[in-house]
Amino acid sequence: METGIYGGTFNPVHLGHIHLLKAAAPCFDRILVMPDRVPPHKEAEMLASGEDRAAMLRLAVSDIPKAEVCTLELEAEGRSYTYLTLRKLRALYPDDRFTLIIGGDMLRTFKEWRNWEEILGNASLLAAARDDGEYERLLRVAEDFPDARVLKVPPLPMSSTGVREAAAVGKPLAGMVPPAVEDYIKTHRLYQNERTD
Ligand code: ATP
Repeated sequence: METGIYGGTFNPVHLGHIHLLKAAAPCFDRILVMPDRVPPHKEAEMLASGEDRAAMLRLAVSDIPKAEVCTLELEAEGRSYTYLTLRKLRALYPDDRFTLIIGGDMLRTFKEWRNWEEILGNASLLAAARDDGEYERLLRVAEDFPDARVLKVPPLPMSSTGVREAAAVGKPLAGMVPPAVEDYIKTHRLYQNERTD
């Protein structure tokens, strides 16, 4: 089984994430979409709970049959480290081949990840550009990693930070997140700086 692992904070999931997921889907039998756990003392302002981030992800991937939300990291203690997650996945699915699906920023800083060499013993890398002009740069970065591929897909520049900033000032989120996620953010009053109630 070819299993893709798409991890992130997803605070919240946005259309750039979905764009990458859909582009990567043909390469895999299934993709585990994995929201990470951020320990309480590290919680940045405007970090939605793991429960909310997972709920928004479920809404966002509901029409991508190969994608499933995996809460392994949310359920573990402490900060999520990919090398530890991969050890667990290896034990759970000994016969799978794993590939980490990552944005270009993550490939460029990959050697700063804890135990990155162990990670590469357990998984390949599949990266995609986040910004225009990044593709060629990523091809050069990927030469450093024998098991890395770069997806040729037009970038959809977008970030969760941008979504949170828009939500905080009450701007419509259409075009940034799927409609069901926009509804969820509104209903649960996420990412609002000041509450009047
Ligand atoms: P923030 O703005 O809060 O830092 P983010 O938008 O970078 O968040 P993450 O949840 O940190 O989102 O990203 C999860 C993964 O998705 C990372 O591998 C990241 O590189 C990738 N990613 C995020 N946005 C895009 C995008 N627009 N296109 C392609 N990949 C993306």
